Amino acid sequence: MADFIIEAHDWQFALTLGVFVAVALIEQLVSAGRPRADRWPRWAANIVLFAGGFGAVVLVSPWILATATWVQQTLGFPPLAGLGLPAWLLIVLSLLLIDLVGYICHVVSHWVPLLWRMHRTHHSDERFDVSTSIRHHPLESVVSGAVQLSIYAVLGVPLLVVLAYGLAATAWQFLHHMDVRLPEWLDRALRVVVVTPGMHKLHHSLDHAEANSNFGVLFSFWDRLFGTYRRRTPESRATMGIGVTDFPPGRGILGPLLEPFRSR
Ligand SMILES: [Zn+2]
Repeated sequence: MADFIIEAHDWQFALTLGVFVAVALIEQLVSAGRPRADRWPRWAANIVLFAGGFGAVVLVSPWILATATWVQQTLGFPPLAGLGLPAWLLIVLSLLLIDLVGYICHVVSHWVPLLWRMHRTHHSDERFDVSTSIRHHPLESVVSGAVQLSIYAVLGVPLLVVLAYGLAATAWQFLHHMDVRLPEWLDRALRVVVVTPGMHKLHHSLDHAEANSNFGVLFSFWDRLFGTYRRRTPESRATMGIGVTDFPPGRGILGPLLEPFRSR
């Protein structure tokens, strides 16, 4: 199964790229009339970060898997897969656990200064659109990959479910970073279960309290359950400021790569 995760990179990349292009085209169509002069420099920087992160993860994936295996063997926690659950219950439980781990890791990446240095690059984007979803520092991609896969290994979550969730969550993150205004009734109905553009946009707010809310990755109910859910009216969301206030973003295509090593 570990080999499968490594060998899956070619079609994972093709599928992810295909979904990204499709979502970007939809965003372009529905947000037409809002041309932005800074679109291409931003997109170039965000694509470089994505390519760097993807390449780094592929490069160190044997190390990530070895780390996850070592942690699992050292802690020896009873694996979920060994509980003898029916397949459907194992899959549902695994999906919920993976998403909860993603939520917790996201909260932690905001509160631990060293992790925030890496995650800050995602938030230093001064616009909010589908390219923001691929704007993660390569160091963050590697560290979060190793940590999250280790946690899944300890929990005994089947790796095939991890892979399927990874693809679904990535596609959904493209969607919830879209610069679109869904009809409010639709956004409200969807965000009962999943994170929507209207919900996630607040997580990129210049307002510190809002940026420390709406941490959900795929499912929205963790934020409600743990009291980190916030909302705004659609009118207020349309004009809100995006980015970080305490840190000047790195300029140019390579500037964001240096962000974790810079002080404010
Ligand atoms: Zn964040």
